[in-house]
Parts: sequence; C-alpha cells; structure tokens
Amino acid sequence: MSGRHDKEKGVNVQVLLRCRPFSEDELRSNAPQVVTCNDYQREVAVSQNIAGKHIDRIFTFDKVFGPSAQQRDLYEQAVVPIVNEVLEGFNCTIFAYGQTGTGKTYTMEGECKRSKSGPNGELPPEAGVIPRAVKQIFDTLESQNAEYSVKVTFLELYNEEITDLLAPEEISRVALEEKQKKQLPLMEDGKGGVLVRGLEEEIVTSASEIFTLLERGSAKRRTAETFLNKQSSRSHSLFSITIHIKEATPEGEELIKCGKLNLVDLAGSENISRSGAREGRAREAGEINKSLLTLGRVINALVEHLGHIPYRDSKLTRLLRDSLGGRTKTCIIATVSPAVHCLEETLSTLDYAHRAKNIRNKPEVNQKMMKSTLIKDLYGEIERLKAEVYAAREKNGVYIPKERYYQEESERKAMADQIEQMGVQIETHQKHSEDWRDKYDAQVHQCFDLSTKLSATEVSWVDLLFSVVLMFEWTLMNCQKQNALAHQACVLRSDLEKALQDNASLFQKIGREDKLSSDNRSVINNFRTELSQQIVSLCNIVATSISQQNEHLQCVQDLGNYFLDRHRKSIEELKKKLSSSRAVYISHIEAVQNVVRLHKASSIAGLEEISLLASSSAQTIKDHLASEAGQVSSIFDELQNTLSTHQGEVALFAREMRQRFHVSSEQRKEVSEYMNGFLDKILEQCKSLENHAVQADAVQMKNIADFQKAYEEQSKSDAEKLVADINHLVSNHLQRQKELVDARLVDLRETATGNKAMLDGHVSSMEYVSTDAKRKWQEFSMQTENDAKDIADHSVTKHCRMESLLQQCVSTAGSAFKHWEKTLDSVNEMGNNHVSKLLSLTRNASDNIEQHDAEVGYARVTAEQDVAKNSEDVLNHIDGLSEEEQGSVSKILDAVKAHSNTLETFREDHSGETAAIDDRAKETFEQQYMDYEPTGATPSRSEPDVPSKGTIESLRAMPVENLLDEFRENNSYESFEVKELKPSLIPRSPLVQLNQQ
Ligand code: ADP
Repeated sequence: MSGRHDKEKGVNVQVLLRCRPFSEDELRSNAPQVVTCNDYQREVAVSQNIAGKHIDRIFTFDKVFGPSAQQRDLYEQAVVPIVNEVLEGFNCTIFAYGQTGTGKTYTMEGECKRSKSGPNGELPPEAGVIPRAVKQIFDTLESQNAEYSVKVTFLELYNEEITDLLAPEEISRVALEEKQKKQLPLMEDGKGGVLVRGLEEEIVTSASEIFTLLERGSAKRRTAETFLNKQSSRSHSLFSITIHIKEATPEGEELIKCGKLNLVDLAGSENISRSGAREGRAREAGEINKSLLTLGRVINALVEHLGHIPYRDSKLTRLLRDSLGGRTKTCIIATVSPAVHCLEETLSTLDYAHRAKNIRNKPEVNQKMMKSTLIKDLYGEIERLKAEVYAAREKNGVYIPKERYYQEESERKAMADQIEQMGVQIETHQKHSEDWRDKYDAQVHQCFDLSTKLSATEVSWVDLLFSVVLMFEWTLMNCQKQNALAHQACVLRSDLEKALQDNASLFQKIGREDKLSSDNRSVINNFRTELSQQIVSLCNIVATSISQQNEHLQCVQDLGNYFLDRHRKSIEELKKKLSSSRAVYISHIEAVQNVVRLHKASSIAGLEEISLLASSSAQTIKDHLASEAGQVSSIFDELQNTLSTHQGEVALFAREMRQRFHVSSEQRKEVSEYMNGFLDKILEQCKSLENHAVQADAVQMKNIADFQKAYEEQSKSDAEKLVADINHLVSNHLQRQKELVDARLVDLRETATGNKAMLDGHVSSMEYVSTDAKRKWQEFSMQTENDAKDIADHSVTKHCRMESLLQQCVSTAGSAFKHWEKTLDSVNEMGNNHVSKLLSLTRNASDNIEQHDAEVGYARVTAEQDVAKNSEDVLNHIDGLSEEEQGSVSKILDAVKAHSNTLETFREDHSGETAAIDDRAKETFEQQYMDYEPTGATPSRSEPDVPSKGTIESLRAMPVENLLDEFRENNSYESFEVKELKPSLIPRSPLVQLNQQ
C-alpha cells in the first residue's frame, strides 16, 4: 500500500555531502577550517563571521562524509545499494557537484592507475566510484552465474559539444578542424529519450578492463585540453554502464533485464550563483557553462513545481532528463572544501544541494524484453546502420543544402518544443478533467444518498400522518366531556375556599400556642440533660485526674525505689571496678617495671655486644688492613720489580735496535759498495767492449784491406797470365768486376762503420745510464745512511724518555706505598678512637638505664600510694552520697503518700457535691415543673386539595386550530429528527396536578 503510494508520489533525490581533507598548500598556509561535518547526525556546520558575529549555519543531508571518510566508506554506504538497484533493472544516476578542486573527479574516478591495483584484481584504496561500481557489477554477475553483457560509454560535454572519450585513436589524432567536425550530434530516439549518434559503446568483459578505458578516456581528455585549451574544470564527463542480464521465465521464455548506471562528473560549480543565474566570468565564457546553468534552472523548476521544465535548453539536461524528475533513481554527491577561502562557494554548493533534495523522481523498473524482441530490435538497428553506411558509401542518401538542413533542424526543434509544451498542456488538462470527474462522482454519490433518504422519509411520513388523524379524533371527543365537568368544579371550589379560610385561622392560633409550650419543654429538657452531662463529665474529669495523679505518684514511688536499688547496685559495681582497676593498675605498673627491667637487661646486653663487636671489628679492620698492607707492599714490590725488568728490557730492546741498525747500515754499505763495484765492472766491460769493437773494426778493416790487396795481387797475376789470351776482352770484364767488388767493399766498410757508430752510441748510453745509476745509488745510500742515523738517534732519545718515565713510575709507586702506610696508621687510630668512644657511650647508657630503673621504681611506689589514697577517698565520698540520696528518696516517698491521701479526700468531697446537684435538678424538673396534657378533642389540621381556577379552566378543551398549531410546531415537515418538545397545551386527565409529572 505504502509502496504504491511512494510510487505515485515519487522518491526524493538522495543528496550526499563530502568534505575533502585539507590540501598540503592549505595546511602549509594554516588555512582556518570553516566546515565541520557530523557524519553520525548527517549534519554539516559552516561557521561564518557576519558583522563581527559568529554564526553557524547547519545543513542536513541524507549522508555526510567528513574529511576522514575513505573512498571505500563512501562507496559502501552510498553507492552499493544504487548498483544493486541497477542490477535489479532500474536506471540510476550519480552526479558529483561542487567547486573545482573539491574532489569530484577524485570521488568519481579516484586515483586508479592499473599499476596501483593489488593482486587478484583488488582495487587500490584510492579507486573511486566508477571502478568500484564496475567491479561490483562483475562480481555480482559472476557469482550469479548469469549470462550478461556490460557496455560502457564515456563522453565529455564541453561548450555544448559532445566528444567521445572512448573513440578509437585514429579519430583523436586527426587535425583540429577535422576534430571539431567529429563532434557527436544528439538525436531524439523516438521513444521520448535522446541518444548520441556515433558514440562508441565499448563492451567490457572484466573489471580490470575498466582501468584501460579510464586511462584512455583521461588521456584523451588531457590531449583534448592541450589542443583546444580546455579545462576539465569546465567540462562535464558522463560515464554510462548498461547491463543486459538474461533471465528465464518458468515457461521457458528468455527475458532480458536491462539496467543503466550514469556517473556524471559535473563541471566546477564556481561562478554559478545560488539561483542558477550567470555571473561575471561565466557570462563572458558564453556557452561554456550553459549546461550547468540549465541544470540549476531545471532543478529550480522541479523544486518549485513550475509547469515548464527547461530540459531542452542544454545538452546536459537533455541527456539526463530522465534522472531529473523522471523514472531514474538519482543521487547527488556534493563536494566541498573545509578551508575558509572557499567559504562562499561552499555555501553556494550546500544551498544548491539542499535545494536539490526536494526533487522527486518516480523510479520504474525497465521493462524486461523478450530475447526475440531484442534480437529483432538489434536486427532493425543493424539494417538501419547498414543503410546509413550504404548511403554514405554510395552517396545515394538524401542530400540537401546546409542552410536548409539547419533551417529544418531548427524548425524541427521548435516543433519538438511545441510538442513538449502541448504535452505539458495535455497533462494539465488531463489533470483538470480527472479533478472534474472526481467531483462529478462525488455529486452523483450525494444524489443517490439523498434519494434513498427521501424514500425512507416518505414511508415514515405516511405512518405518522395516520396516527395523527386517529389522535385528533380521540382528542375532539374528550374535549366535549371536559367542558361540562369544568363548570361544576368551579362552583364547588369557591365554597370550599371560604370554609378553608376560617379553619385555617383557628388552627393557626392553636399552632402558635403548641409551639410555645413545646419550645419551653425542649429548653428545660435540654438544660437538664446538659446539666447532668456536665456533672458527669466533671466527675469523669476529676476521677481521671485523680487516677492520673495516683498513677504519677505510683510512678514516682516506683522510680524512687528503682533509683535507690540501681544506685546501690552501681555503687557496688563502682567499688568493685575501682578495686579491680587498682589491681589492674598495679599489675600494669609492675608490667611496665618488668618491661623496663627487661629493656635494661637487653640494652645492657646489646651495649656490651656493641662494644664487643666494635672492638672485634676494630681488631678485624686492623688485621685486615695489616694483611692488606702486606699484600699491597708485595704488589708494590711486584710492580717495582716489573717496572725495573721492564726498564731492563727496554734498554735491551734499545741496544738490540741499535745493533740491528748498525748491522743493517753495514749491510747497506756492503750492498752499496758491491753495487758500486758492479757498476764499475759494467763500466769496464763497456770500455773493453768498446775496445773490442774498435779492435774488431780495425781487424775487419785490415782483413778487408788484406782481402783487397790479395785480390788485387791475385787478379794482377791472373791478369798478367791471361793478358795474353784474352787481353782486351777480359780486361773490360775485370774492370767491371773490380768496380763491382769496390762498390761492394765500400758498402761493407760503410756497414762496419755504421755498426761501430751504433756500438759506440750504445756503449756511451750504457756508460751514461750506469754513471747516472751509480750517482743515484750513491745519493740513495747516503740518504739511507742519514735516515738510519736519524732513526738511531730518535730511538736513543725515546729510550731515554721511556727510562725517565719508568723512573717516575717507580718513584710514584714508592710514594703511593708510603701514603698507604700512613692511611693504614690513621685508620687504625680512628678505629681505636671509635672503640674507646663506644665503650664510654655504653657505660653512660647503662648508667642512665640504671638511673631510669630506680626512677621508675620510685614512681611506681608513689603512684600506688596515690592510687590507694584516691580510691579510698572516692569510696568514702560514694558512701556519703548514697546515704544522702537514700534520705531524700524516703522524703519523696513520704510526700507522695501524703499527696495521695489528700487526693482521696478531694475525690470523696467532690462526688458528694455532684450527687447533691443532680438530685436537686431532678426534683426541680421531674416533680415541680408541670406540662400541658393533650385531651384528644382538638381536631387535627388537614389541607384539602383545592384545584386552582387555572387548572379547572385548563381542563376545558382547546380550540382545534390551537391544537393543530401546537402539533405542527412540535412535528415539522422538514425534519423528522427528535426535537425537544414544547410543553404541550393538550389537557391531561382531569384533576391531576401539573407539577406531579
Ligand atoms: P575536482 O574534480 O573537483 O576539480 P579533484 O578530484 O581533481 O577535484 O581533486 C583535487 C585534489 O584534491 C586532487 O589532488 C585529489 O587527490 C585531492 N582530493 C580531493 N578529495 C580528496 C579526498 N577526499 N581525500 C584525499 N584527497 C582528495
């Protein structure tokens, strides 16, 4: 019932508020906080200072998320139920509305890089509503094992132009002009909705794909920004998820359930005034925020129930028409900043969101489609698209001039507006006609009620008329009889009245006399009874007083006796207590003395023990110190020995060092001498080599010359021998040969000279190197010798220093030993002093204890004596006191007895007097006072009933007209309701008094 009612009335748009935490900049600049959120009470308080006054404005929303709320909190509390409804087949829309930088995109998309997602496809904590919704959809569908398809679209609306954020890359890479042409048109779908022509619908098969899509969309948005200098703060983005789920009916038919979720990240709300009107910058920006302004106006119109809702004024409102006052469930997430510099915008956002709370939607589940119908629709769509493609390819579609197209388009738009307005009018007319019909129905119902009432009235009216006629006849008859009787009665009445008057005056006189005597009698009776009552009460009072006094006296007597008894007993007890306390006191004193004695003995023993201990401890200290002294001196000796051995060892070490240095310098000297010798040898060798080379050269030269000479001689003899044979021919050959040999010999000589020069060079360089090495070695050995000398000197000085230090150590140890011996002596002396002081102290203490003991004993004796004397005095005093008390008590008892005797005589006198008064009164009233005795002859007074003249006259019958009038007055035609009847003038039975009724 209530569900139906809700359906008819609609459900309010759910409005949530989210306040982001302070940004780092705000924290750095210490920006004051003006927004406080109470998530629990769903309240947001904004602090303002208006004219120096601190004012808090409080807004209540359906849910409030403070700065500490995480993405997950918002999603689980606000969005999960919405997504569940989408899965049930509803269309739902979530808007994010607020100033730029307050977290709209953070809320909707979040910071969801694929890289940040956890294992098993878990979402990062910063993931916003979109990835979480997609994940929830897939998780639910998978868990249901349902057959489904999920499609998403992602578009951006900027400056009233729609861009597809999921369009393939090629399109986005085209030139700017191309790109502007690619703006997608918004078309009517013929079913009252709109569709974006050419919008890419991406089929998603897993939640993880969403990251790719979001990244792609965001990247495109960024490139678009750089191309067109857009600012995402001024554009709206719409992410839609459409889900188709297959269901089977019990009849085996396959149905398709469809749900759609729109997630809208609106442009920054800055510059939009609370009423939705444009302001400064926004006006300059022209169309940029047209959509946002129209959204504000649509919300205003919906909240104020205006007839015309300007949905058609912007693309955003056209796209989201169904989410605002339509069949979609809508949720608005308003985002604000907590900082003071955003105060104005924050208040504007809060006002806007608060206003939007009043929009009512009438959500309806999308009708489930039969699979076959869906397929048919899809085929239709495919056919249409094919036709479009064909027309585009073949260019055989309808082509019209641009102007005409725009003109027709504007005409179409105007017509659509008109149709919409007419629709609104029809709706209002329908509403009116429904109202009239309701009124008509109510009238018909009333008529029916009246006619039934009329027929019922007619029946009762006929019955009544019949009874009235009968009554009228009977009344007429009675009237005639009554008139005759009334006349007779009038005559009798006048006689009776006269007799009655006489009688009454007589009776009045008798009455007066009777009254007087009865008054007198009653006065006397009263007096008598009062008198006797008073006497009785007096007697009672006296008797009670006497008995009370007696009781008192008895009490006093008892009390006296009791007091005496008690007194005696207590005195005895007191005596006993005194004696016992004395005994206790004495025993206590004895105990105290014993304690003192014990204490004395123990303290003496303790003191002795202390003195013993002191002397023994002094002795032990002495022994200990002596033994320690032995040990210490042995340690010192040891130390000294060690130091001296150390000294010896150091000296030995130094000596060894010196020797080693000496040996090493000797060795070094030997080595350097050997090296010098070696180098000299090399030098000699070089020289001998040089000599050898010179000799070899000479030998070689000589050999060549010898060879030349021998050859020349040989050839001379050969020539002389052969001259004859070959004389001329051979001489040429020989000449040539000689020339050749000469050339060869010159070459040989030159080579030998070169060799020699080279050898000379080598030898000289060897000579130079070895001389240089020798010089260097000599330098080095000199330096080493100097170093060794330095080191030896240093070690000698070090050794001297160490020796002196050791000497110093030894002397310090000696002085320490002497100091130790001195300390030992002083400690011994101090110990002895302490022991002697302790002994004198113990002696003093035992003397004091002795003195205390004697004092305590003396005090005890005096105390005992005093106590005995005091208790004796007390006892005597008590005895005297009790005797005095006994005397006074016996006197009281005597007085009591005398008083009781007096009382007895008073009682007797009093009773005698009262009896005499009573007798006298009795005699006076019973015997002397006489009363009137009635004779019984006086007639008793009676009051006959005399009917009044009016009554008799009223017995006459009334004229019939009067009767009728009266009847009419009491029984009107108009109503048959029971009325209060007027007193009837219709005569009653004769002689019945009216006031008896
Ligand atoms: P808008 O879309 O409203 O212009 P953004 O979503 O771009 O704002 O948020 C602006 C900055 O504030 C971003 O850096 C975002 O990370 C941060 N931010 C917004 N809301 C929150 C929040 N609730 N928690 C943490 N950081 C937030």
